[in-house]
Amino acid sequence: MTMVTLQLMSGIAQVIEGFISLLRGMWVTLKTMVRPVVTVQYPDEKLTLPDRWRGVLSLEVSKCISCGACVRACPAKLIMLQSHMGNDKRRVLDSLRWLNDGCAHCDMCVNACPTHALAFHHDYEIATFTRESLQIELARAKTAEATPSAAGLAEEEIGTLTPDGRSALASELREGGESEQ
Ligand code: SF4
Ligand code: SF4
Repeated sequence: MTMVTLQLMSGIAQVIEGFISLLRGMWVTLKTMVRPVVTVQYPDEKLTLPDRWRGVLSLEVSKCISCGACVRACPAKLIMLQSHMGNDKRRVLDSLRWLNDGCAHCDMCVNACPTHALAFHHDYEIATFTRESLQIELARAKTAEATPSAAGLAEEEIGTLTPDGRSALASELREGGESEQ
């Protein structure tokens, strides 16, 4: 067999090998084309979250008895409570603040609350550019220094917002954080 024949056969073998490799690649593409789509076109599309999803902590202010159980239960010390003794010898809530920047969403605060005043909502779009924006006032009494929130709401109202309302608030906090850059 001459050298030219050997080179020709080697060339043909390389062409066949390349063609097989191309078919393998095309096969992967074809298989992917007929598989069900698993990607979600966020933010136009959103996944339906599981019922037990923990997003943003929320307080039902009227149920809070200022017992401090949530504060003691939090392993990361992320809940800050201020209260005072009322005329009827019951504690009155002044403010409850949640520092979301370190929250492990472990649910221990929710489980510790004897009156079921705390709950996690499904909101998750709370990314922001400042850590301060993640410090959320769950409640502030009218008698405490009333500072308007980023959403322009009185802070005592924040804890009673619906999940949609909290999403809107989270968006405004996010925009506020961006404008501070
Ligand atoms: S979910 Fe866990 S880490 Fe987050 S505030 Fe509650 S107790 Fe603390
Ligand atoms: S939220 Fe619940 S656990 Fe926390 S202070 Fe209020 S009543 Fe107590």
